[in-house]
Amino acid sequence: MAKLTPMMQQYMEIKKEYQDYILFFRLGDFYEMFFDDAVTASKVLDITLTARGCGLEEKAPLAGVPYHAAEGYLSKLVSAGHKVAICEQIEDPKQAKGIVKRAVTRIVTPGTVTDPNMLKDSVNNYVLTVYQNDRHFGIAYSDISTSEFKTTFFKNLTNLENLYNEILKINPKEVVISESMRYDEELMAFFIDNHYLMTYLNPIHFKFSEAEQTIKRLFKVYSTESLGLTESDDSVIACGALLSYIEETQKVDLVHFNHIEIYKHDAYMVLDKFTRRNLELSETMRAHEKRGSLLWVLDKTATAMGARNLRKWIEAPLLSKTEINKRLSAVEYFYENISMRQDINEYLSRIYDLERISSKLVYGTVNARDMLSLKQSLMYLPNIKRMLMSAENEHLNHIISELDDLTDIYKLLDDAIHEDPPITIREGKIIKTAYNEELSELRDILTNGKDWIVKLEQAEREKTGINSLKIKFNKVFGYFIEVTKKNVDLVPENYIRKQTLANAERYIYPELKDIETKILNAEEKINVLEYDLFIDVKNRILDQILRIKKSAQVIAEIDTLLSFAIVSYNNDYTKPEISTDGEIMIENGRHPVVEQLGTEELFVPNDTIINQTDNRFYIITGPNMAGKSTYLRQVALITLMAQIGCFIPASSGKVAIVDRIFTRVGASDDLSQGQSTFMVEMNELSNILHNATEHSLIILDEIGRGTSTYDGLSIAWSVVEFLSQNEEIGAKTLFATHYHELTELEGRFPGVKNYCISVKESGDDITFLRKIIRGGANRSYGIQVAKLAGIPDPVIARAKEILKQLEEHDINNNISSIHSSMDVKTQVVMKEHEVVNILKDMDVMKVTPLEAMNILYDLVERAKKD
Ligand code: ADP
Ligand code: MG
Repeated sequence: MAKLTPMMQQYMEIKKEYQDYILFFRLGDFYEMFFDDAVTASKVLDITLTARGCGLEEKAPLAGVPYHAAEGYLSKLVSAGHKVAICEQIEDPKQAKGIVKRAVTRIVTPGTVTDPNMLKDSVNNYVLTVYQNDRHFGIAYSDISTSEFKTTFFKNLTNLENLYNEILKINPKEVVISESMRYDEELMAFFIDNHYLMTYLNPIHFKFSEAEQTIKRLFKVYSTESLGLTESDDSVIACGALLSYIEETQKVDLVHFNHIEIYKHDAYMVLDKFTRRNLELSETMRAHEKRGSLLWVLDKTATAMGARNLRKWIEAPLLSKTEINKRLSAVEYFYENISMRQDINEYLSRIYDLERISSKLVYGTVNARDMLSLKQSLMYLPNIKRMLMSAENEHLNHIISELDDLTDIYKLLDDAIHEDPPITIREGKIIKTAYNEELSELRDILTNGKDWIVKLEQAEREKTGINSLKIKFNKVFGYFIEVTKKNVDLVPENYIRKQTLANAERYIYPELKDIETKILNAEEKINVLEYDLFIDVKNRILDQILRIKKSAQVIAEIDTLLSFAIVSYNNDYTKPEISTDGEIMIENGRHPVVEQLGTEELFVPNDTIINQTDNRFYIITGPNMAGKSTYLRQVALITLMAQIGCFIPASSGKVAIVDRIFTRVGASDDLSQGQSTFMVEMNELSNILHNATEHSLIILDEIGRGTSTYDGLSIAWSVVEFLSQNEEIGAKTLFATHYHELTELEGRFPGVKNYCISVKESGDDITFLRKIIRGGANRSYGIQVAKLAGIPDPVIARAKEILKQLEEHDINNNISSIHSSMDVKTQVVMKEHEVVNILKDMDVMKVTPLEAMNILYDLVERAKKD
């Protein structure tokens, strides 16, 4: 340290506090980065890496960016997943004694950016905090650009599956945890596996009293209870810690954070990441594109707020029949009232992103054009409110009653803001003349001044007799008189020569300068005054920010419901009946996405009746390409659509609320992962067997495919057996398989029914009929499908010969000899396995004698249980 130059010492001092950050260190007109930061930045930003003497023997690697172009570079670094701390000179270099004082004045991280240029309109940008207290967890997350702030908690988790699913659903850009959690292997493995950008905070922020203080201070409340944070201290801690992080990064007064939304994660259907991926809810499995996803089909939203809200709804289907029916009734209303649908949509389409304009107001980056966008958006609120208040629909009436039409703010903007303002707010032309008396006086001088100049020019021409005399303006001399060379003789004495050009001379004279001073003063004053007026308007609106945000929320909700109605109408969906009797009954159901992808083949609708009793477990067979996978997903998507409150692609339907949808796709069918191994498939399967309940819907697509035929068939068989026999689970299950041997299971196990997707056979050829019918396919038609794909005839012929020989030793012949249920030996093995696991997990050195007694007691109980 001692050998370093004083400036580098200062650098090191600051860098020590910001080790995980790339430090932008302001030196004159540049932000410089040193050492590892420089190396990283030069790669990411594609800028030159140089070196600079720093006092040590070796020079310090250095890379810099000009300060005026910093935003672009910043955005590149942040998009690449880096955190950046910006260190400015905080005193005037001229006044400084010794080294100029510097300090970090701004922090930009992927989870806390607010610059609209770095954000996507239709996606929320979340930063999330997890607080762990033994097996209890609190999480809090926020989109700082829209000031959404939410929290939930988990108690007594035996496994962390639900916590993980919640975090995956939120999909944060950055995860903030306590320094002390860094060493928790279980959680860290999850964060690392999912490539989350991690930030570690001082554990002090995770102390209850500290967290509580932060919340009370920022929300200006006397107790956290008044915000509704009553049920979980873990939630309070997560909120407080997250707020302290936001405060530290933003370094502005967080006035727009007014509300913490406390939600119960079990109010929503659980969708794990495999299911979200397999069902292609918001992006396709392979290309990760929106086109081809459910979101793509359902998104007819007109506003950015609506688009973000729709995504949230799709990822969190409801579990309450009442809540679902409310949404459905509103959708039905829009569905039936064409002109209302069109009018509201027309109004919505003119509304800009109110949430992001609001945050620009808070972060002080708003300009006059944003204000105009705000004004234009507000213009339609009264109409929307009036129309929906009179709508004959209770839910819509209720939602819209919360809409503040903000006419006062509209009026202020309309009075104050110029109709065609520039981007900058320091160069005038942003405030209307009539808005302020002083401003109109100054503008008068300016217009008159220009008149005076014209008159003066005329007068001077007459006085001197020089007809080509001109009064001009430039930045160096201000106003001056220009006379061509041939007229120089006519110039009067009071002209003072200022400049000689090739064929003209330039002059000034005192009277001209007087007028000039007046005009220029007015111009300068106007710019300053307009800026001040603008800031005043901004602050007055800022005071009302919570009202704007509330209205933005209402608009988002209306927009989403309307989008459901538009899609339902355009695509000929019907309103589902929501039931709790466990039965899903779909007439002429269609796959919402496949039918929209516009292939040549017309989509063939299919029925579904599945319940929790005699028709609980579909075994669906049929050749490759018959449509099995499509059918499975169709049933899952229809269920999900009903639970988000949208109509469904069917001629009619009754949907029982399901608490989870599980989907597992056989290894070789899932190309997206790159790691399409059998192991992954089995892992996922094991999760289902552990977590499914009688209210779940399970979709299994070609499970067991990733291994040899006999292994695969055996696993598939025992999964069917386990799921269908286990009364504790009793989930509705659809299992597509090309092992037609499994059709043997109907009649052996309760609720198992065979279905197949029919094909028409004519001689050697098959045609896909796409219709699901009762019964099992007894053949796989693999050779026929191969023929359809254009495999040469001799190969097909030879394959048939081989098949014939193999069929003589058909495994079907052996099927009847397999025992129809788990034998006693297997049950014993399972029990022993359980006991051994408990022992393995035990750390003898860490248990007290009393705990040891308890564990022993428990083991004995388990061993005795039959
Ligand atoms: P499988 O899983 O049985 O191999 P898929 O479900 O992958 O078959 O479907 C194969 C093809 O058939 C897909 O390209 C799909 O677009 C089309 N398809 C599936 N079901 C239907 C249907 N009901 N109507 C029209 N085309 C369908
Ligand atoms: Mg398939």
